[in-house]
Amino acid sequence: MKEYACGDVVPGCGASFRVSSEEELLAVCTVHAQHDHGLTEPQMSDDLISRIRAVIRSVA
Ligand SMILES: [Zn+2]
Repeated sequence: MKEYACGDVVPGCGASFRVSSEEELLAVCTVHAQHDHGLTEPQMSDDLISRIRAVIRSVA
């Protein structure tokens, strides 16, 4: 499982996600960013994706 706390990238955001793969996590994060952070692009930027990848944790 992969776990990501959005607050690690977006200070103040309390959302966290736990899904089975990094690809799925990025897909979930994209939807979250569109709904809660005003992302208007269909995809997150490479910069944002790399910042998210840096804080993704592997959990059992
Ligand atoms: Zn968030």
